[in-house]
Amino acid sequence: MKSIFIFVIGALSGVLGAYLLFSMRPPEPVASVAIVTQPAPPPQEAVVAPPSPPSAGVIAPAAPPYELVPPGAAPAPIPVPALIPVPAVTAAPPAPPSPAAASPQAVAPAAAAPTAVSVDKARVGSLLMPVAGINARQLSDSFNQVRGAERHEAIDIMATRGTPVFAVDDGRIAKLFNSKPGGLTIYHFDTAEKIAYYYAHLDRYVAGLADGQRVKRGDLIGYVGSTGNANPTAPHLHFAIFELGPEKRWWQGTAINPYPLLIAPDSK
Ligand SMILES: [Zn+2]
Repeated sequence: MKSIFIFVIGALSGVLGAYLLFSMRPPEPVASVAIVTQPAPPPQEAVVAPPSPPSAGVIAPAAPPYELVPPGAAPAPIPVPALIPVPAVTAAPPAPPSPAAASPQAVAPAAAAPTAVSVDKARVGSLLMPVAGINARQLSDSFNQVRGAERHEAIDIMATRGTPVFAVDDGRIAKLFNSKPGGLTIYHFDTAEKIAYYYAHLDRYVAGLADGQRVKRGDLIGYVGSTGNANPTAPHLHFAIFELGPEKRWWQGTAINPYPLLIAPDSK
């Protein structure tokens, strides 16, 4: 009996010892794994325009609020000769990709347009129609259209390939970028650097256009095309507006519907 008791005591102290030994081990260092969440590739858009061959049914640049372009994607070299001397704007290189912080904000439904318009106008002001020869009646609001898993959050302005594209506002060219969905694109910041305008599927840039270049409302900046995942038989300008976050990242912001701003009477 005594030996059993001693055995039990021994076993218990063994367990206790093992427990103490274990609990006193320094914590395992946690491997610092940078979790890089690449935004999902944007859904392909439904066709907005003429019937198309089965292969090419889609128009659509990146999905908004949106990493407009996956930050990790390496820009393809864009053959734009810098003919125009560019003021040395110190554009900080894009920060390393971070998890997309911006969650899509609820946007007022179309029914609440009057309020939405005035709020957006206060932020954005009046804009020039970005495509030559287009008037407000030719536009349709596809901002809230769901294409794939994402909202469109842009407007598609159909026009003949090569139609001039104008800067809608004063500001500077924040980034010329060639992306898989958007093709040749321009990210244009307004003067206050609070708003970014995004022009996608361009056929080409105007000669000499360069990062950092100052632009005036109405300046010719490019030409309508179907680069990226646009339907080649339906060239158009995919035009988006987004409010920049405090970091002023050209690929990140909160989408604003361009439609009410472009059909406003003082937008021309
Ligand atoms: Zn579009």
